[in-house]
Amino acid sequence: VFADYSLLQVAAGETIHGHKFFTGFGGKGANQCVQAARLGARTSIICKVGSDSFGNDYIENFKRNGIPTVNISFEYTESFFLGQNVIVIVAGANLLLDSEDLKKANHIICKAKVMVCQLEITPATSLEALKMAHANGVKTLFNPAPALADLDPQFYTHSDIFCCNETEAEIITGIPVGNPEDAGKVGLTLLERGCKLVIVTLGAEGCVLVSVDERIPKHVPTGKVAAVDTTGAGDSFVGALAFYLAYYPHLSMEEVIKKSNFIASVSVQASGTQTSFPKRKDLPQDLF
Ligand code: ADP
Repeated sequence: VFADYSLLQVAAGETIHGHKFFTGFGGKGANQCVQAARLGARTSIICKVGSDSFGNDYIENFKRNGIPTVNISFEYTESFFLGQNVIVIVAGANLLLDSEDLKKANHIICKAKVMVCQLEITPATSLEALKMAHANGVKTLFNPAPALADLDPQFYTHSDIFCCNETEAEIITGIPVGNPEDAGKVGLTLLERGCKLVIVTLGAEGCVLVSVDERIPKHVPTGKVAAVDTTGAGDSFVGALAFYLAYYPHLSMEEVIKKSNFIASVSVQASGTQTSFPKRKDLPQDLF
């Protein structure tokens, strides 16, 4: 559910008037999966949905995006509200995803080229999924969102790629990020904690990449565009990253980031989250 609030500081019990109201699909994992699928990736998502009409619509949305839905389990209702760049999540169903569910999905995880995890399931389940993938030689891409200040250090060592935005970077490392230089400091700090490759996204500034091989932060800028709505840009970026890592393993990381920057920059030129994510057929073919 998306709502455009004029006031974001609302006391308990207070009623405020909204100006716009529309519904859309979300959840970081789902958004990232949809973006990867729209670029042509064969994708699977391991999640739980609410046992209500939202849950059914959610499944239909996956099908429409070419994401097969097997072993669906319906659980409590999950609803989330998005204000203008403020996201309040009332998580339900996905917090019930556990070890047993991962075991059932073992065959999907083990044969993937890339596994993407976020923190919209419990951290313990997310970490277990990363470990399962890692142990089977699957490339792991971790997006620590919503961020936790006390992230289990094992997340660093089990992520081949650790990709966060400025806010998440600050919550995790305590380093405020306002420019590429700050993002470089975050990257170096995360290498010290055991990460191999860190990407900090910087909105219109693109990204900073820091890897254990070079240890010199590299700013990868993005093209200037007329942004209409940047909600979900990070998910478009992560979905694109997963697509390129899986299908173009010969590309350098810088090249993968440049292409993912481009895809995400297309997404900010339209409104909504998944509604703004571009499809392969509408993109310049030299991206593929
Ligand atoms: P999040 O949506 O998680 O806050 P960012 O705002 O850092 O993430 O955006 C993720 C990526 O989306 C950026 O690295 C960039 O590639 C692209 N992007 C975001 N905002 C813009 C913008 N105004 N112009 C061009 N690209 C953008």
